[in-house]
Amino acid sequence: MALIVKKFGGSSVATTEKILAVAQRILSEKKSDDKIVVVVSAMGKTTDNLLKLASGIDAEPYKADYLRELDMLLTTGEQVSISLLAMAFKKLGQPAISLTGAQIGMKTSSVHTKGRILGIEPKRVHEELNKGNVVVVAGFQGADEFGDPVTLGRGGSDTSAVALAGALKADECEIYTDVDGVYSADPRIVKNARKMKEITYFEMLEMARLGAGVMQPRSVEMGQYFNIPIHVRSTFTNQTGTIIREDYTVEEKDFEIRGVAHDLKVAKISVLGVPNNPGIAHTLFKALADANIDVDMIVQSIRNIDRNINDIVFTIALSDLPEAKNVIATTGEKINAASVLVEEDMAKVSIVGAGMLGSPGVAARMFGALARAGVNIDIISTSEISVSCLVKGSQVTEAVNGIHDEFFPDK
Ligand code: ADP
Ligand code: ASP
Ligand code: MG
Repeated sequence: MALIVKKFGGSSVATTEKILAVAQRILSEKKSDDKIVVVVSAMGKTTDNLLKLASGIDAEPYKADYLRELDMLLTTGEQVSISLLAMAFKKLGQPAISLTGAQIGMKTSSVHTKGRILGIEPKRVHEELNKGNVVVVAGFQGADEFGDPVTLGRGGSDTSAVALAGALKADECEIYTDVDGVYSADPRIVKNARKMKEITYFEMLEMARLGAGVMQPRSVEMGQYFNIPIHVRSTFTNQTGTIIREDYTVEEKDFEIRGVAHDLKVAKISVLGVPNNPGIAHTLFKALADANIDVDMIVQSIRNIDRNINDIVFTIALSDLPEAKNVIATTGEKINAASVLVEEDMAKVSIVGAGMLGSPGVAARMFGALARAGVNIDIISTSEISVSCLVKGSQVTEAVNGIHDEFFPDK
């Protein structure tokens, strides 16, 4: 007997036909004594459409004052798909029950639209499994201490699935999606991207953090925390996909770069002409942190040493921009900024790989590939296992393909 958690993303359950096909596939692979928990996302583009609906009330729905209500709205998307999938199982003769995040005991922080899982007490899930039910769980959502619904950030159903697999001590966690594994770059942008057999949590986390949307970063952290191997595979074929785990078992480790990631959902903010005094950076970034805004690339440079003036430039997620503008309007005045510039048409392209630690020259090769592709670099930042460049959003395809060709030439 095995306890298996399977997660199906939005495109896998986009129509009622697809929902029936998912139920059929699960049952055709289920051994009679297997216990199955299925975590699902909202159907197709439902979450985007719900956000559009909210934009009809206010063009900027991600304002702090609305976030609780946004969560109330967005969690309805997953409730539609769980009820339909549970009905599909019943139609096929399999007892099943749908449960919301609150019903599976998923406790989250109260930071609406960016909730963090504080713990899961899946007593109800065990009870329903013991009754012979397939348990169908709403991804992307939990409940805070007040019982209010809280979502886990875009793509959060991955995190729901891996966290639940950990809490249930599941034997397997499978993420079913519209690609058949993790590739060396987004296969929608790079036609000759290569599928990986395996990738470590460490590298996958960095790829995901830098924009590889196939897995939400928090889900990879959860996998590592619980030491659960995660199998990313296709909803539409039976092929083995990619295993995310602690270390490699079958693949050679002699690659310098594991993959190229890109992120179009970034905004660049330049706070220009601030005094070159202690406490300025602290005041600015503390105000952003207090508003739960994650800041990414940060560059501070001295513009005019004689006049004691600095410029501070940084990037944030595009969805945080409305709130960041509010914060900076007040803080900019406090720190005497001469002006603030916001650029939305930006993209971050990154190379990721633990192998680059012992390979000098990797960054230079990346910059060379960008130069050949005619892409100008705006900001550069590095971590232990990645190099990222901020470029114009309109050049992201050339940038990613140029870098990919450099590190993964066709054999
Ligand atoms: P789901 O709705 O199943 O959660 P997502 O759209 O969130 O699916 O994630 C799957 C998508 O991730 C793919 O369609 C692909 O375009 C994108 N993606 C980005 N980077 C990668 C990568 N390195 N490998 C595979 N897919 C990637
Ligand atoms: N439906 C949510 C989203 O679109 C969660 C998910 O798909 O994982 O972000
Ligand atoms: Mg996803």
